[in-house]
Amino acid sequence: MIEILLNDRAYEQDIRELLMAFYPGETFAYEPSPDTEFSVEGIIDKGREWFSLKIISHRQQDFPELPPDLDEGVEEELAHAEEPIKVDYDNRTETKSRIKGRLYALLVLRTGRLLPWGTLTGIRPTKIVMTKLGEGMSQSEIASYMKRTYYTSHQKIELAIKTALYERELLGAMDYENGCSLYIGIPFCPTTCLYCSFTSYPIEKWKERTGLYLEALYHEMGAVADQIKGKTLDSVYFGGGTPTSLSAEELDQLLSKLEELFDLSHIKELTVEAGRPDSITREKLMTLKNHGVTRISINPQTMQQRTLDLIGRRHTVDMVKNCFLMARDMGFDNINMDLIVGLPQEDMEDVRDTMEQIRALAPDSITVHSLAVKRAARLNTMKEVYKDLKIVGTQEMIDLTAKYAADMGMEPYYLYRQKNMAGNFENVGYARPGKACLYNILIMEEQQTIMACGAGTTTKVLYREENRIERAENVKDVGQYMERVEEMVGRKRRILSSLGDSIYN
Ligand code: SF4
Repeated sequence: MIEILLNDRAYEQDIRELLMAFYPGETFAYEPSPDTEFSVEGIIDKGREWFSLKIISHRQQDFPELPPDLDEGVEEELAHAEEPIKVDYDNRTETKSRIKGRLYALLVLRTGRLLPWGTLTGIRPTKIVMTKLGEGMSQSEIASYMKRTYYTSHQKIELAIKTALYERELLGAMDYENGCSLYIGIPFCPTTCLYCSFTSYPIEKWKERTGLYLEALYHEMGAVADQIKGKTLDSVYFGGGTPTSLSAEELDQLLSKLEELFDLSHIKELTVEAGRPDSITREKLMTLKNHGVTRISINPQTMQQRTLDLIGRRHTVDMVKNCFLMARDMGFDNINMDLIVGLPQEDMEDVRDTMEQIRALAPDSITVHSLAVKRAARLNTMKEVYKDLKIVGTQEMIDLTAKYAADMGMEPYYLYRQKNMAGNFENVGYARPGKACLYNILIMEEQQTIMACGAGTTTKVLYREENRIERAENVKDVGQYMERVEEMVGRKRRILSSLGDSIYN
């Protein structure tokens, strides 16, 4: 446990996030407590416009050697570590950056480690690049800005710039500013994965009531169709959960409903997360094909059987291969595969072997996630049971997946980060030319209004001129969703009506 002791909580979240990046899974106390490793003590003095920050060890600590490739800025911080930091409290961004810079230096000193993204704990590094490009900065100016401000490594800066440029090119080819997208959540899965923090219920338990869920969903979809009438629908994404947990008949009915309610004549992409191979059948794939689904995802996460067993996926590696080949055979020409680096008990050789098997299948895109153990995941809630599992995600593993993606002719096209991510890395989507998922970019860069239906989904309405997003969240609990669907419709209506009769101005 780590103590965070501050006389003012204004920057507590920023401090905690950076600590979490160095110490994933660690717990925090906000007042003096026994059994803490060390304290981070901060004093805000608004009158004198300074901030002091120090780390106090509660146990004997041998400091490791400092990394050889230390930034000048970090060295500078360490040289003045005893002195308070002069800040302008009217400039929150700047103040935050100064405080995080000092804390980062102190944590590098304590751990002997640098973080690949430096002090950057936000989820969208590409947004920084996009903004700076918009302000007219050159690529090299952006690179030195990120280095100076966040101590981000050269490699990650390059990744962020490359991805942002690709995203910009893809978005430039469509009139996304006058369109919107639709997300439909199907919150059922064959079983619950160990690391899952999504809205997901085992389909076996809900089999008898999926019809009721779909009824509520159709009601909400109908209301949304009215709300966006006259607007262009650019992309539709079915996620969850695992939409293919539904039966072929239910999928048929659901996609027919979509066609009946919405004008799909302009859509550039219709994705269905087929996700778990243990939910896929030929009949279901045929249903998707017949309804013009353009992109599917078949997600192995790993091609190591013992890991699949360990994380509760209850399907085999062969099932992944068979489903993939079956989908290819049926004419699906845009298949994504999701992978996770840093899964329990996996090492570099497991990652290499997984990537070899993926390369042999030749998907059109892959999304490489770094394991993030979120609060609601079993891996976290049942920490004691799983405490002996070795969870290691390394830069070398990430680099290896990037190398295989390049070998497969793929480029990084979207990038985001999560809190609590093992090793503070990132999630990257790679795609072959013409196979990138536009919806992923639109949602991540918050470039478009996304209407969302179903339990646990979030609608995001973009007020472009005000550069502001309004969110309407649906309840996560399926039972509650079915009972309160009218309320979910009302939540959307409220954020839309505050915009007058247009959701785009
Ligand atoms: S397939 Fe995805 S949504 Fe379903 S349980 Fe696993 S992690 Fe959760």
